[in-house]
Amino acid sequence: MPTFENIKAKYNTLKFNSIASILESLVKQAEENEISYLQFADLLVSEELKNRETKRKKYNMKKSHFPSMKHLEEYDFNCQTTISKRQINSLLDFSFIDNRENLVFIGPPGVGKTHLSIGIGIKAIEAGYKVLFVSALELIEELDLAELRGELKNKVHSLLKNDLIIIDELGYLPFNKKSMFNFFQFINSSYEYKSLILTTNKDFTQWSDFFMDENVAVPTVDRIIHHSHIFMMGGDSYRLKQKLEER
Ligand code: ADP
Ligand code: MG
Repeated sequence: MPTFENIKAKYNTLKFNSIASILESLVKQAEENEISYLQFADLLVSEELKNRETKRKKYNMKKSHFPSMKHLEEYDFNCQTTISKRQINSLLDFSFIDNRENLVFIGPPGVGKTHLSIGIGIKAIEAGYKVLFVSALELIEELDLAELRGELKNKVHSLLKNDLIIIDELGYLPFNKKSMFNFFQFINSSYEYKSLILTTNKDFTQWSDFFMDENVAVPTVDRIIHHSHIFMMGGDSYRLKQKLEER
């Protein structure tokens, strides 16, 4: 006669740990509700699938490296007249990720570019996508280091395992020639393959300033904007507004 203990052990051997952990209550529930064998078979596997998905999303959230959890629900669209809630909500079917399109948020400091990027990233993870948040500075450091070690290709490949890569604060520092080339390699590899969200304080006409070289700036910008949704944001810094209101 099988016992719960040895059935659970078998489920655990097969790594059906969620089923194993609640087998008794599932069986009890089935008996009480007199469900069919078919329904019971479905109940078991659905429970396991649900728990695996929850775990996967939790893991993806941890691996996304968001510097802080900024939710879209906390974004006050009344304070920001250059972008509407409807515009942002229309992105949340994630067709932009499925179609490998990019989002570019351009605007001065403090208007909420990073907040919106993280908010969209969180929703994407909840919808099942893999997301990575990285500052432009970190990304360039990582690419340069990989290039020094002769591992640039591997690095780019591993970054592009994500469905969406958020590159924050492009344009605060100029690139040197080597970094510029490495960054171009990354952009070129992501082109029509994975989605990016970029935030920057510089509009495209100023991009050659931080790429320092038109020959790389032009094809880089070209690839970024070819399939992209561009949001020009303006207004006053939210941080500054809050500070002034504190007085
Ligand atoms: P940016 O990336 O454009 O410099 P951030 O996204 O970092 O700006 O925003 C600066 C701070 O102000 C953050 O703490 C952010 O949560 C907050 N913030 C900016 N805009 C809004 C807004 N419209 N509603 C709520 N918080 C906002
Ligand atoms: Mg920012």
